[in-house]
Amino acid sequence: MNAQINATVAGVPRIGPKRELKKALETYWKDDSTGRNLATVATQLVNQQADNLTEAGLDSVPTIGRSFYDSMLDTSALLGALPARVADIEDHGNDGLPAFIDRLFAAARGTAELPASAMTKWFDTNYHYIVPELAADTEFRLDDAALLADLGDQVTRGTAARPVLIGPLTYLALARTTDGSDALTHLEEIFEAYARLLPRLADRGAAWVQFDEPYLVTDVDNDDARKADLLARTRAGYEKLVSAAGDTNLLVQTYFGDGDLAVKTLSGIGIAAFGVDLVTGRTDERQADDTNVADADLLPSWSGEGEILAGVVDGRNIWRTDLARALDTLKALAKRGPVGVSTSSSLLHVPYSLAQETSLDNDAELRSWLAFGAEKVAEVALLSRALRGEESEGDDAAVAEAHAAVASRKNSERTRNAALRERTAAITEADRHRNPFDQRREVQEKELGLPPLPTTTIGSFPQTTEIRQARAKLRKGDFTPEQYREAMVNEIKDVIDRQEALGLDVLVHGEPERNDMVQYFSEQLEGYHSTDLAWVQSYGSRCVRPPILFGDVTRPKAMTVEWFTTAQSFTDKIVKGMLTGPVTMLAWAFVRDDQPLGETADQVALALRDEIDDLVDAGAKIVQVDEAALRELLPLRRAQQPYYLEWSVGSFRLATSGAEDATQIHTHMCYSEFNELIGTIADLDGDVTSIEASRNGMQVLHALKDSGFELAVGPGVWDIHSPRVPEQGEVDKQLADALEAVPARQLWVNPDCGLKTRGWEETTAALKVLVAAAEKARASVNA
Ligand code: GLN
Ligand code: ZN
Repeated sequence: MNAQINATVAGVPRIGPKRELKKALETYWKDDSTGRNLATVATQLVNQQADNLTEAGLDSVPTIGRSFYDSMLDTSALLGALPARVADIEDHGNDGLPAFIDRLFAAARGTAELPASAMTKWFDTNYHYIVPELAADTEFRLDDAALLADLGDQVTRGTAARPVLIGPLTYLALARTTDGSDALTHLEEIFEAYARLLPRLADRGAAWVQFDEPYLVTDVDNDDARKADLLARTRAGYEKLVSAAGDTNLLVQTYFGDGDLAVKTLSGIGIAAFGVDLVTGRTDERQADDTNVADADLLPSWSGEGEILAGVVDGRNIWRTDLARALDTLKALAKRGPVGVSTSSSLLHVPYSLAQETSLDNDAELRSWLAFGAEKVAEVALLSRALRGEESEGDDAAVAEAHAAVASRKNSERTRNAALRERTAAITEADRHRNPFDQRREVQEKELGLPPLPTTTIGSFPQTTEIRQARAKLRKGDFTPEQYREAMVNEIKDVIDRQEALGLDVLVHGEPERNDMVQYFSEQLEGYHSTDLAWVQSYGSRCVRPPILFGDVTRPKAMTVEWFTTAQSFTDKIVKGMLTGPVTMLAWAFVRDDQPLGETADQVALALRDEIDDLVDAGAKIVQVDEAALRELLPLRRAQQPYYLEWSVGSFRLATSGAEDATQIHTHMCYSEFNELIGTIADLDGDVTSIEASRNGMQVLHALKDSGFELAVGPGVWDIHSPRVPEQGEVDKQLADALEAVPARQLWVNPDCGLKTRGWEETTAALKVLVAAAEKARASVNA
């Protein structure tokens, strides 16, 4: 058994370099007789990956076995804790698939009869996990046949396979209970289940087992006593695991933040290694943040006992590592104890390999700045050789080359646009301020002439097959740009007509031309690069291709004015301009790490500010700037949140404060866990903010009111995440509740979110209900 790991990665993607698993899954879901195919594809992917990692020089290979959807969901299946409602779903006896596979998919996706489990974002990433559904009486029963079989296969093939499990603290901290009980009361039970599992993994030949405990990079709990209790119980649990593991070594892995608390909590009990993220908080991206730590100050709690698997290669962003700098960090740590090399997080969050990315064929410079999954693995292997003084031929040159590439990115004209930099240097506080809301409101009420409780939508209307086909045809060259344009204009006309017929007050053009709200703008801005095959899993079989924000962002020309003008030409009603805000434009991209995020956000903000100017010149009276991702980027630790909120709010205000009093600025956010962000919504100073509210019965409005919120607000009265058309009475009630919380003058009426994933049938029916509810409420307000 190897007592030390020299080179590894913290985790691996599962979807396949060409999205093979996605395709096999979707085929299986359509027709479950194809189980054999799904099993074969998944096995091939796991084997191929193991071979690639081994050949690249890793001496320990993380394996999640054949994971078909999500690791949290796998953990629920492993612990026998899939939701009770799926228990009766029959095992189809699918050849070669785990016996629980159909129950697992039913939990993840729902069935015709059963609702799906909740899905939510994995820490501050754009990956979504399936939320465990537990209750006080949940019993955990190991269902480890699939895991053991997969591990056995890998060991037989000669892979140094290291099973990766979600640690008990993280699993429970991210779980929800259906009965309001505290999920963490199950902590000891899960440790016991894992203690039974470990000898079985050891029997199958696992020299190492990894437990992911990223929850240990958060505040764990805001209450100090509860935090101390949880940490003590976690320590006691791992102590049991160490003794149950026998000769098998345990690795505790944290990521997305400082790993020191994990080391501190779990030192002195025989944990063989700690995998830690040495990238987050240490790149220049947060240099203005006081969390930036020097090499000498890393991991103060590490006494040299237990190995550190130093995550010096960024697992969630696509920049090439400065190998010289990484080597300095590794050497500084190695003076204090045993050190191996790893990634800062699982490679789940980055595309597979630069080799297949054809969009870079003609851009050698940009390509030289990047490292995707396979390239990161090579970096890890090289750093490990260099650290141990076992360099291969060419390694020294590669270190120098990587260092030079990083320097060239910092000095390139493409990342440093002199004219833009002059402009950002001249930004003043005044550029982030509009006149007081009272004053704006008065002007806007006159200018817009809207009825009380105005009705509107969030922007997109159903993305029909025809719309998608038109886009595909344009891409393939089957449509000329003129033909495509004509298709979009017809669509916009149709959407405007339908909104007029429904009697909505403020109309939208429907966003038919937008594949994705970030991608659409990134394709038109300098400083972004759109990829063609750089897919990453978002959830289940869903993948996204985040654009690469590599350089200074500028707007060569107006981006949306033509569509707006077209839409406005079809109606006398007001059409809203529709833009994506700076934070969201960063959150759903791979963002440059050579300057603070706030500086990048300000550049995007200036492009949006100019776009708003152009829209207003073209006649727009209302412009909406969506910030769907504002909550997502909120730092995991409270101490780091004020800094984030300052730059994120600042960039939104820079984008929108060029507007005169008469221009009404809307913004939209699609989540309801606002409590910590109530003050932030007010700080954004948007004239109208639409938010999700229907699923929690307007609670958020009461919180807004209590905080003295005076701006206008549009609580979503139709939950668009479900195809169900609400009853008239339900929406009437939502509005009545809303009116109880805030004065009519402050209230707008709209759905929860954009309608692009909905069909026309339910959209039309639900909007009719919405408009009728607003009319009734209006009558009662006027009376
Ligand atoms: N305007 C966008 C739409 O309606 C907003 C989407 C979102 O909030 N995610 O699609
Ligand atoms: Zn939304």
